[in-house]
Amino acid sequence: MSDAHESDVRGRDVPADVDRAATDAHDYDVPTDEPVYRCDRCGRPFAREDWLRLHRGIDHPDALDDEEVETYRDAFADEQAEIRRFRLKALGALILIYFGLLMVYAVL
Ligand SMILES: [Zn+2]
Repeated sequence: MSDAHESDVRGRDVPADVDRAATDAHDYDVPTDEPVYRCDRCGRPFAREDWLRLHRGIDHPDALDDEEVETYRDAFADEQAEIRRFRLKALGALILIYFGLLMVYAVL
């Protein structure tokens, strides 16, 4: 493994220039009425359980057991699907804006 990159559990390169120590040292303000999923390794709180799973896979890849790797992959796949849906909606919105402006331009 090179010094410049580290690999996540999926074997892809992750840029090593992210200052993890700086983010780990941060104080997190969590509203008391929110459900909190807390990382048992660094204490960082998350509002959603799948975000905690993603965090474990990204920040503590070496500390995962097989089950946690599996839940990380599931959470990662869910996140990918969510990003795809968002991109489709964004594309749809852009097309609507484009043709909307085209109509306005044609009328004026
Ligand atoms: Zn953590």
